Amino acid sequence: MSTLIRSVEVLVSSPSRNFVTLRITTEDGVVGLGDATLNGRELSVASYLEDHVAPLLIGRDARRIEDTWQFLYRSAYWRRGPVTMSAIAAVDMALWDIVARLAGMPLYQLLGGASRTGILCYAHASGSDIEALGDAIRQRQDEGFRAIRIQTAIPGMGSVYGVQKGAARGQKYAYEPAKRAGLSVEEGWDTRKYLSFLPGVFEAVRNEFGPDPMLLHDAHHRLTPIQAARLGKDLEPYDLFWLEDVTPVDNPEALRLVRQHTTTPLAIGEVLNTVWDYRTLIQEQLIDYVRASVTHTGGITHLKRIFEFAGMYQIKSGSHGPTDISPVGMAAALHLDLAIHNFGMQEYMEHQPVAGEVFRTSYTFEDGLLHPGEAPGLGVEYDDEAAARFAYEPAYLPMARLADGTVHDW
Ligand SMILES: [Mg+2]
Repeated sequence: MSTLIRSVEVLVSSPSRNFVTLRITTEDGVVGLGDATLNGRELSVASYLEDHVAPLLIGRDARRIEDTWQFLYRSAYWRRGPVTMSAIAAVDMALWDIVARLAGMPLYQLLGGASRTGILCYAHASGSDIEALGDAIRQRQDEGFRAIRIQTAIPGMGSVYGVQKGAARGQKYAYEPAKRAGLSVEEGWDTRKYLSFLPGVFEAVRNEFGPDPMLLHDAHHRLTPIQAARLGKDLEPYDLFWLEDVTPVDNPEALRLVRQHTTTPLAIGEVLNTVWDYRTLIQEQLIDYVRASVTHTGGITHLKRIFEFAGMYQIKSGSHGPTDISPVGMAAALHLDLAIHNFGMQEYMEHQPVAGEVFRTSYTFEDGLLHPGEAPGLGVEYDDEAAARFAYEPAYLPMARLADGTVHDW
């Protein structure tokens, strides 16, 4: 038996959106997949892997996961950041996939086994007005979701983060912020309008749907600490499961002020990359949920470390799961969700059906719960022939400007 790495391939495909996939094959032909997708900056990670990492991996033992992680992190000298940590994540996922396939087990068994029977997840719902939002929530409940993130258009503002534009009533929710174009789409933003409108939306939703549904909301990094404090306080009567990304996380100490004013649970972290980025947030208990993705946080090895660190402070996981995490990254998150003790919630923004032609997955959604399935490894197969039909197309996330033209956080 040879577990030495024979080949390392970077696969870029675009079934409905751009995905960067790493495929590592051992001399015995065991294949592992990793997700290296960095939305809007995809090719930088592809180059990091292809030009700088792949040559270093040939001939290494695929079973040496921790050693390879430390080698890639420390030997580059230039540490951290989304490009580096997404590249390391892809290698880490692929090696875990290989080792679990060698063991003939689904990955979660190697991570300590199942700590629960299924993975609670939330869907997105949005509406151009409260009536349309109500329709979207009902649709999600009919699909079985117990937790729903709600976003709405704000009167007097154009396109807003998280709101599906131009959707016909009853149409299935399929919001995709990254537009296929050579430039970012510009959206407007007005914090005063947002802060005065949003509490009434939650009031209307609670009045219509009662206290049972778990509700979430994403402020998408747009508020100052005192604005975030006000929003958290104003939303307290509506019992949010979490309020996400209230302030830009470049300054984690900002959350101290928010915490002093509100008991609304806070979730943050999707743009962070390492356990060191989380040090203040976790040690000072400034958040309730770690909103990290396996793909952008150094892979299974490193995200498990972050979740365990968070667990010491009664902080739970809240894995990031938008459609710019590929089905490979999603599968990796689900194995981790099932195995860790301090699981909180998984975001589940289903991929377009066409993505399923390239990525054959074994995870399931039933009665509001996800499960990674029992296939060996991550449980995802990559179809090269299907992938060849979907060439890379540049796509950028939108950007936001205030009424006077000033660039704002998107
Ligand atoms: Mg977010």
